[in-house]
Amino acid sequence: MRDICQQFIDGHWRSSYGGRCLDVIDPYRETVIAKLTAGDARDVDASVRAARQALPAWRRLSGETRGHYLEGLADGLADQHTALCQTISLNGGKPLAESQLDVDDAIACYRYYANLARQLDARQGEPSAQSIAGVEVRRYFDPVGVVGLITPWNFPLVTAAWKIAPALAAGCTVVFKPSEVVPIPEQAIADIAQTIDLPPGVLNLINGDGPGIGEALTQHTGVDKISFTGSNPTGESVMRAAATGVRNVSLELGGKSPIIVTEDADIAQAAYLVMNGIFANAGQICSATSRLLVHQALAEDLYAALNQHIDALVMGDPLDEATTLGPLVSDKQRDAVSRYLAFAKDEGLIPVREASHRKVPRQGFFVAPTVFRDVPVESRLWKEEIFGPVLCARQFASDDEAIAIANDSDFGLAASIVSGSHEKAADIARQLSAGSIWTNMDQLAPPQAAWGGGKKSGIGRELGPEGLSAYQELKQVMAPSR
Ligand code: NAD
Repeated sequence: MRDICQQFIDGHWRSSYGGRCLDVIDPYRETVIAKLTAGDARDVDASVRAARQALPAWRRLSGETRGHYLEGLADGLADQHTALCQTISLNGGKPLAESQLDVDDAIACYRYYANLARQLDARQGEPSAQSIAGVEVRRYFDPVGVVGLITPWNFPLVTAAWKIAPALAAGCTVVFKPSEVVPIPEQAIADIAQTIDLPPGVLNLINGDGPGIGEALTQHTGVDKISFTGSNPTGESVMRAAATGVRNVSLELGGKSPIIVTEDADIAQAAYLVMNGIFANAGQICSATSRLLVHQALAEDLYAALNQHIDALVMGDPLDEATTLGPLVSDKQRDAVSRYLAFAKDEGLIPVREASHRKVPRQGFFVAPTVFRDVPVESRLWKEEIFGPVLCARQFASDDEAIAIANDSDFGLAASIVSGSHEKAADIARQLSAGSIWTNMDQLAPPQAAWGGGKKSGIGRELGPEGLSAYQELKQVMAPSR
């Protein structure tokens, strides 16, 4: 059993001030695999002081040098690729192939921002594109300062990379709090920082839960910006905390994303994309396309194709390469999803596939892959984020109807369109309210493309150049033209 009662502060591992301890669970074997400190406000204070002290020297370094350190973090992850995949699957319950994506995408993200950091040197002092008669305007990109980064458990290395990489590239210093549910993979980031001699205090990693670390970190006025990814209720409390001192905040929150299958779609392609959109990571993905809108002419054929795919899913040990659907991350998450299945019964929803159609492993926090059809738009299951392997489907008669239903949501994170016509898909995409839309393709989130949504899905964007801007303050210097 691993003991994670240490915090990485000012370049060293040291004991947490926290007295409380949390169990870290293997969700397949249902056993305790580590003890984790719940953290303490004094850990937060020590790490914020270290980050503040490291800030002046770190921001003065060239982008070239900061990029070099970011490449070091990427190389360090690449060196431990196999072990990290196993740790993510062991601690988080996702099949190995999906853990590989987590590690690969994290590495790609550090390399991408290493490159943007290097480009930043040439951009400092660039003339503004807007000309003002008689005035010369130059633009500088200053770091926001000390940033507090808080992440969830569903993609432990990727969600961390999406924040740490641009923050360090911009010249910010970091206090990072991983999720207490899947904290083991992230510890490697601090170990690598030590190995590559990242200057002390530039990257601090403090373990703990919301009451132990999260609340104190968001309330600490020595933190200039909070970037948070997680649930909507926590996001709202983070935003309230950031109001003290008018501090910068970015939020990546929940989703209830639609997937639209038009009348001319290819059934095999649609079935493949619908499956990946809801059953990858057992549906525990913020952008999971959990609302299927299928044209009425195709509905029966698509349900039949989905049934075949669902029956072929292999539920089992995430560390077994044959497994394609793992357990949910915790008993708490399984119970939350099961509550929605109970609501579905109360509401009289019609299951196309559910637990009665298959054997579910007795060990592990599994929920059977579930599809409901003809789901009314007033249903709780249609409207609320379930964060599990549960797909709600309904038919539509016209593309306009599909667009209206897709947009009738509190969330605006992502959407997917499957159509025989790329022009039609592009036209529908333009009318949807979502930050990321995929047409006739897998749901990729490459580091080059911005990520985030509107409405209750959050504020701001990660990834792409926008992800770097989120950690920068634009400074404009004006002088009379010479
Ligand atoms: P969560 O809100 O329970 O926890 C997220 C993080 O916040 C954890 O590190 C937790 O310890 C910390 N935290 C808890 N209480 C806090 C507080 N009061 N102040 C500060 N920090 C606190 O979310 P979760 O269950 O870990 O993750 C699932 C949610 O995350 C889902 O709603 C999902 O949609 C969302 N998510 C969104 C994205 C995105 O990009 N939009 C990506 C992944 C997950």
